[in-house]
Amino acid sequence: MQGDEFEKARERMVELQIVRRGIKDPLVLEAMRRVPRHLFVPEPLRSQAYEDHPLAIEEKQTISQPYIVALMTESLRLKGPERVLEIGTGSGYQTAILAEIVREVFTIERLPLLAEKARARLDSLGYKNIFYRIGDGTLGWPEEAPFEGILVSAAAPSIPQPLVDQLAMGGRLIIPVGDKLTQDLVLVERVPQGIKKSFLGGVRFVDLIGKWGWKE
Ligand code: SAH
Repeated sequence: MQGDEFEKARERMVELQIVRRGIKDPLVLEAMRRVPRHLFVPEPLRSQAYEDHPLAIEEKQTISQPYIVALMTESLRLKGPERVLEIGTGSGYQTAILAEIVREVFTIERLPLLAEKARARLDSLGYKNIFYRIGDGTLGWPEEAPFEGILVSAAAPSIPQPLVDQLAMGGRLIIPVGDKLTQDLVLVERVPQGIKKSFLGGVRFVDLIGKWGWKE
């Protein structure tokens, strides 16, 4: 595959996997149409980049299925002026989707090799509104809090309290919570009375490893 073939595959991905499954937010759909997902996967897997499943990246990690990226992003109900925290930069694909939509994205990755590759990729694509940190994202990024949105793309045994504490009023946190095999996507919203939780369905993510996640 090359140039316009990737573009056509991406357009088909958005129609068949995203729009048909009920994602409606025009900002999310536009971002998914723009970001060249094939540049975020290892070279030998490029021709599969627009297929309906996750793919292996380096360090035994994965780039999420396109639909799950769209679903999680839409659940944050972003409009543009927000500052968003992302835990688990991985390939940087989800980071790019967020950076297309909001003012600033703060992204944390624990594995330096992945963090550096993602940064090089996102820099070369021209993103100027992304801030990077290597470390344990379960602690959040207190110096930059509060955030209107927090997106965690690794699976936690329970909701890390620091992330709830770093949510702005009206802010939303989306995170897979469960055991190591399957999890529920949990949406946490900070409301004046405290927090409100809802469940968006079953998923399977790699482990969130850290102080408020799984032990290594
Ligand atoms: N959103 C990514 C998905 C990457 S997989 C993408 O689109 O490619 C999840 C990532 O979370 C892995 O890279 C893993 O190393 C990272 N991770 C796991 N625990 C973490 C933690 N406590 N802090 C930051 N990153 C973490």
